[in-house]
Amino acid sequence: MTEPLQNITDLTLRELQQALSALGEPSFRATQIHQWLFSHRAASFDEMTILSLALRKKLAESFSIHQLRAVDHQECLEEGCENPTQKILLELQDGIRVESVLIASENRMTACVSSQIGCPLQCPFCATGRMGFRRNLTAGEITGQIYALNELVAARVPGKALTNIVFMGMGEPLLNTDNVIEAIETLTTRNYRFCLSQKRITISTVGVIPEIQRLGKSGMKTKLAVSLHSADQEKRESLMPIAARQYPLKELGKALGEYSSSTGMPVTIVYLLLRGINDSLDDARLLARFAKTFLCKINLIDYNSINNIKFKPVYSAARELFQQYLMNSGLHVTVRKSYGTTINAACGQLATVGMPNPQ
Ligand code: SF4
Repeated sequence: MTEPLQNITDLTLRELQQALSALGEPSFRATQIHQWLFSHRAASFDEMTILSLALRKKLAESFSIHQLRAVDHQECLEEGCENPTQKILLELQDGIRVESVLIASENRMTACVSSQIGCPLQCPFCATGRMGFRRNLTAGEITGQIYALNELVAARVPGKALTNIVFMGMGEPLLNTDNVIEAIETLTTRNYRFCLSQKRITISTVGVIPEIQRLGKSGMKTKLAVSLHSADQEKRESLMPIAARQYPLKELGKALGEYSSSTGMPVTIVYLLLRGINDSLDDARLLARFAKTFLCKINLIDYNSINNIKFKPVYSAARELFQQYLMNSGLHVTVRKSYGTTINAACGQLATVGMPNPQ
């Protein structure tokens, strides 16, 4: 059986330059091809009319082109929902499927994208974590999700496009940093279709300290969100065992402080409120003490129930007291509305369906 050709959209720009150089072509050709793939979403080399026929033939002999397209699509049917959250299922070249979410609000169209298939960190409250880990997504697969969601936006409202991107889908983006950065470069570089400002992109992490330090020094201007969920080391370890043990609160606080001072941007602390677990005033006090040491804002989110998982959403009265305590402590606090709960597209609910069995 012949091996399938390598999908050219899986190559980074540097790898594409190396491949073109091996074919005796100058490096600017790689940039042209990259733009055809990621700006024009070319589905065949024949579309790349800027290239000679001979080069298109050579490329077609060495590579295939697999552009991600939605194979399924669901819309949130909550009553009175004017801008329904939408979830799409995309099939990757190896048959694995990945979910991405479009969150529409009055003046924003936000793509919530995945960076891994499954997640190695296995937080017990998260549907993705319960899937286990299959593999990292390539930069092309990350970018492909965003283009596919953008097509959904344009199909619905001609002329409209995505305005924001959040890496809050499946997986931990800072365990796949190279590909996440490569995708962000494609999405924010001039001459490509999106050319989004980096400030419209948020990377959400459990707190992978070395990678936070790397981002802080990189000069990138993307926003950073950190899932904290408890400012008590022991409790955090019970909620996110792998991440909390590997990246303890003390060192995490220091890394976030350095990050906010070197970038001048506040870090968003994401705090998932779980009934009877991390929603007391003592928990709020510990959170306030942690958050006061660096430039940040706090985003409280309600838990979205997942089948067979024991956690429960906070009571609204407890949430209000928790929020008030933090505000009285001088912190900037918002409560994030949950989108897409009816289609399992809300935070922590993403898990691929139809995945082939592991080899
Ligand atoms: S919450 Fe995030 S880090 Fe934890 S298992 Fe889920 S995807 Fe992974």
